[in-house]
Amino acid sequence: MSEIKLIISKKMKDSTLLKIAKNYGTPIYVYDKQKIEEKYEKLNLAFKGQKVRFFYACKALSNINILKIIKNVGSGLDTVSINEVKFGIQAGFDSKNILYTPNCVNITEIKEAIALGVHINIDNISILEQFGNQFGNAYPIMIRFNPHIMAGGNYNISTGHIDSKFGISIHQLRHVLRIVKTLNINVEGLHMHTGSEIKDIEVFLQGLEVMLEIVRNFDSVKYLDLGSGFKVPYKKEEKETDLTLLAEKLQVKIKEFNQETGKDLEIWFEPGKYMVSESGHFLVQANVIKPTPATVFVGVNSGFNHLIRPMFYNSYHQIENISNPKGTERLYTVVGNLCETDTFAWDRLINEVNENDILVFRNAGAYCFEMSMNYNSRTKPAEILVDGADIHLIRKAQVFEDLQKDVIEI
Ligand SMILES: *Cc1c(COP(=O)(O)O)cnc(C)c1O
Repeated sequence: MSEIKLIISKKMKDSTLLKIAKNYGTPIYVYDKQKIEEKYEKLNLAFKGQKVRFFYACKALSNINILKIIKNVGSGLDTVSINEVKFGIQAGFDSKNILYTPNCVNITEIKEAIALGVHINIDNISILEQFGNQFGNAYPIMIRFNPHIMAGGNYNISTGHIDSKFGISIHQLRHVLRIVKTLNINVEGLHMHTGSEIKDIEVFLQGLEVMLEIVRNFDSVKYLDLGSGFKVPYKKEEKETDLTLLAEKLQVKIKEFNQETGKDLEIWFEPGKYMVSESGHFLVQANVIKPTPATVFVGVNSGFNHLIRPMFYNSYHQIENISNPKGTERLYTVVGNLCETDTFAWDRLINEVNENDILVFRNAGAYCFEMSMNYNSRTKPAEILVDGADIHLIRKAQVFEDLQKDVIEI
């Protein structure tokens, strides 16, 4: 691990955001490069001196410029589709630093990933068999297990529970071992990922215990991937997962395990949200202030087509009025402009909002732009990267012509 120095970060200023809104228009996503670097250093610092590697889960935010930042800080990449694998290679990641963790893909996609030389994580018995029949021990793989732990901020983002489609059940271990032995498969790593927004480090430690028991069955295993789910604070009073404490407790358990088994296990993590969430700011403009008998709506020039997390996961994003930061706080319900129930936030105290004011959604780096779409025939927003004093447009806003460009008129 390289020398660690903690960057003293200068928080990106709201005046910079206002300038961007004025020059590039809204809605628009803005990412702060320094925040991403700072988060990675924090991770590294927490696990300093341990045999730990990080693979950024790029489904959170996959703009190639973001991937390059991630590569330059020294992280690996976790991918969930063959296209993300290709993005990683385009961004300059060595294939050995790319991990492919797909779910329910065809063996043809696994073969494509093999041809690209990346780590492959197999998550069902059917593919394990197909892989073994065709490759035997010619290409090392990882196996994703489901440890059956209920965790995470929301049922839809929990992946380790009994109903989950992810991973191979730990109760199928004997079957897996039979296949691995018979087909002579080289299993170099094991994996689990129990969900997103896990604050309680006991969940990771429980998962670790379960997985260490499984590792004992595989002589060839060199690393154990504990996935991710590190929580970041969305509300002011929330705390992020205590990584320093997690690292301490993890180290004790791994040491014990290594001493007992003679192994030298490497631990992997796949942080997505942790790396990019706080770097992101989503800027919108208030179009309409609409008092009704029930509330005062602020209707903005965006909708769940641009930021779906509140409607999809019932998630919370801090919303601030940066055009009137000293205004009297008033109670608002912030909604989008789609013809659909499209609520970003109920009952928020926000500094008085006037029409045309610029509002910012905080923590808009992860799973925000990435999940955007063209519903209601609305275009997707631009993306900006702020690098110190430099402001770079890193994705153009879509225009009207983009909306029908793949349609074939007959
Ligand atoms: C989504 C995902 C992650 C990242 O989860 P975060 O909660 O964003 O950190 C990591 N690993 C896998 C396999 C995933 O699917």
